[in-house]
Amino acid sequence: MTFEDVRSLTEQYVEGTYARFPLAIESGHGATCVDFDGKRYIDFGSGIGVNALGFADADWAAAVSSQAARVAHTSNLYYSLPGALVARDLCEKSGMKKVFFCNSGAEANEGAIKAARKWGEMHKGRDCCEIITLCNSFHGRTVATLAATGQDVMHTHFFPFPEGFCYVEPGDIANLSDKITGKTCAVMIELIQGEGGVVPLTTDFVQGVAALCQERDILLIVDEVQTGIGRTGWLYCYQSFGLSPDIVSSAKGLASGLPFGAVLFGARTAGTLTPGEHATTFGMNLVAAAGAMVVLSRLDNAFLNTVKEKGRYISDALSRCENVASVTGMGLMIGVLPKRGDARDIVSKCMDKGLIVLTAKNKVRLLPPLVISDAEINNGLAILTEVLQEVAQ
Ligand SMILES: *Cc1c(COP(=O)(O)O)cnc(C)c1O
Repeated sequence: MTFEDVRSLTEQYVEGTYARFPLAIESGHGATCVDFDGKRYIDFGSGIGVNALGFADADWAAAVSSQAARVAHTSNLYYSLPGALVARDLCEKSGMKKVFFCNSGAEANEGAIKAARKWGEMHKGRDCCEIITLCNSFHGRTVATLAATGQDVMHTHFFPFPEGFCYVEPGDIANLSDKITGKTCAVMIELIQGEGGVVPLTTDFVQGVAALCQERDILLIVDEVQTGIGRTGWLYCYQSFGLSPDIVSSAKGLASGLPFGAVLFGARTAGTLTPGEHATTFGMNLVAAAGAMVVLSRLDNAFLNTVKEKGRYISDALSRCENVASVTGMGLMIGVLPKRGDARDIVSKCMDKGLIVLTAKNKVRLLPPLVISDAEINNGLAILTEVLQEVAQ
């Protein structure tokens, strides 16, 4: 099989929902991978923030394959030891109280939305079902999470959307305060808007949102699908703000390459959902849970400090680049706005030279594996800065 075979099969049989780059990765190790023609790449993308431990981490591969060789799936009719252990680890490390497992970020946010609405109904009555989200947010591609997503471009088809969502500009605490009514059950935010262009919320705004949620007795939901699992140098980004959210959604890096999502419930919301009210067949999958166990056991304070250091090093290097207007983000979640050059064109040019990077709106987005080595960072930075210089000509 050559790359052209892969491409033509895909184009013939796979629905064309993605504008794919001409690359099929054949194997990898850490933050380095090889394509079907034997060309090597440094990976600054992690498959969109998923491969937290990079490609083919030895402990992860051993845990996942040994679990797969015993039992992969049993359903939620029964108990799962790996699932229970991941739930305990997540709660102990996050300060949250209970976990619901699912398979993706959108599904985690669906669970968060359903739980918030049930909480609203229980505490304030049926009308208390509205959720306020932010303009330029991204919460997923299902119909409800698209409605929660505060970007008009995503609302052009697929009508009708579910009711009960409204949007506030990030930073506009006065408008948020006005929009909270007796019908509001929750505010849902990303602390750094990922798909929106790696746009961090200000500390003032975040503290203001948290204070308003408390004063008005509504829930704070933090979407940590992209920012979570060590990405920002914290297990969850909300920990860097000293927040105690009521609901947290998690996915992407959670099982480092296997589909796994989680809704975390705090003291006020634990126990809101009861038997029959929410479920998913694949939830708490034993193989994914075995992968997540390895990820969580790796993310101790010393490891998280290396994420912060690597992030600082990359951000500093890119800030010194002539063609860079701004560098945003936190830890190993980094947005680079070029002064000149189109982000997608920069991605293609980097790929030609053996570096995988992502875009987010008009920025180049970097989400390298958390385990990336200093040598891989330096090699990748050399390519990226060269391309940034090239497109400035
Ligand atoms: C990626 C992402 C999602 C959606 O996750 P899927 O696994 O693609 O459904 C939701 N919220 C945020 C913040 C994300 O970055």
